[in-house]
Amino acid sequence: MSAETPLERPATPSGLCATCQHAQRITSARLSTFVRCGLSATDPRFLKYPRLPVARCEGFRPATDLAGPQGHHI
Ligand code: SF4
Repeated sequence: MSAETPLERPATPSGLCATCQHAQRITSARLSTFVRCGLSATDPRFLKYPRLPVARCEGFRPATDLAGPQGHHI
């Protein structure tokens, strides 16, 4: 019998979701971390809570795409 506490549980690597602009990271009251896929709201191919880690995904978009062309003036 082991009393595992959330703080002792290793974090689950979320794979692609960790750097995807569609991912919303959620931490429960018990300190478990989930990823909610924003694409699931509009595309049934994507699970609301994908099984982690996600190694390949058609919907993956790097979060850096959100940065836009800041600093570039035409
Ligand atoms: S689109 Fe794919 S990689 Fe991005 S959050 Fe959803 S499941 Fe994860």
